[in-house]
Amino acid sequence: MRSVAVVVARAGRLPLGAAEAASAAGGEAIVVGDGARAAAGELAARAHWCDTGPGLRAAALTAALAPLLAEAALVILPASPDGRDLAPRLAAALDRPLLDGAISVALDGETVRAELSRHESRTLLRCEAPAPAVATLEPGSLTPRAAVASRERIPLEVPDDAPDPEVLEVLEPETRELADARLVLGGGGGLVSDPGEGRAAFELLERAGAALGAAAGATRVATDAGWIARERQIGTTGALIDPELYVALGVAGASQHTAGLGRPAHIVSVNTDAACPMSAMADLAIVADARALLDELVRRLDA
Ligand SMILES: Cc1cc2nc3c(=O)[nH]c(=O)nc-3n(C[C@H](O)[C@H](O)[C@H](O)COP(=O)(O)OP(=O)(O)OC[C@H]3O[C@@H](n4cnc5c(N)ncnc54)[C@H](O)[C@@H]3O)c2cc1C
Repeated sequence: MRSVAVVVARAGRLPLGAAEAASAAGGEAIVVGDGARAAAGELAARAHWCDTGPGLRAAALTAALAPLLAEAALVILPASPDGRDLAPRLAAALDRPLLDGAISVALDGETVRAELSRHESRTLLRCEAPAPAVATLEPGSLTPRAAVASRERIPLEVPDDAPDPEVLEVLEPETRELADARLVLGGGGGLVSDPGEGRAAFELLERAGAALGAAAGATRVATDAGWIARERQIGTTGALIDPELYVALGVAGASQHTAGLGRPAHIVSVNTDAACPMSAMADLAIVADARALLDELVRRLDA
């Protein structure tokens, strides 16, 4: 096992970027976490799995995985929230360099070559490190190649006394991680008629999202204007998402935006222009004022 991907499942689901990580590792993967067996079944790779229970106990998982990974020249994790938490711990435990936020990474003899994305994808840093190394791979950075799939359960000793923080309570985030969200509300320039009201409009979008269990996203017009944080931008120079439902409010549907949408099963577009690209690609196109519709949605959700 020269290269191997390590993937943390949640509730039987793979994180975004799992297939890319497995592909970059030559089709070799270890799937841990909650519902690892079902998640491994979705991976077109030689998947070794062990159900290690819910939540990310990063210290305990590191202790369990480190002996297994001792011989691997390259360990790749998807740059998902859990992957980003686990990777530095594995790198420290294995005493290896961490190549974080790669858009490509491969083993070339005894050298690991990677291209690292920096400054919100505006800078590409080519780097190489002597193997062995640990890397995180950004979701959407390559087209995964399917390997001959197989599943094998592996025994992992996950210690109960690892120095993981005690979880007292899990609070619902006000806005969720975009990359993993099944439902995304996206706001664009059409949500704001008076720029002075921009922040208020997007705070409302985030409130509606929190009430619906959805993540709030935005177009570059909105993030450039400072109406919502830059990390909420969806598209070629923003986040890549892959929800089941994308609801676009006042979004034109420029290719730089839609390129970040993944393959949503359903799209709803609210726009005053029935012929705009976003409405043209939607299952349901609502011709209406986006802000008025959002106001009404929040009023009903509050009620
Ligand atoms: C190199 C490069 C990279 C880029 N990367 C990204 C990226 O990652 N993500 C991204 O999003 N963009 C990106 N862009 C910008 C992109 O080209 C578009 O300009 C941007 O997506 C448009 O955002 P928008 O739809 O919010 O705004 P607009 O183009 O201003 O469209 C507003 C929409 O709202 C509608 N509207 C107007 N009033 C109302 C109303 N009252 N109610 C409902 N609808 C209304 C309009 O009909 C229109 O369809 C990039 C551009 C470049 C050049």
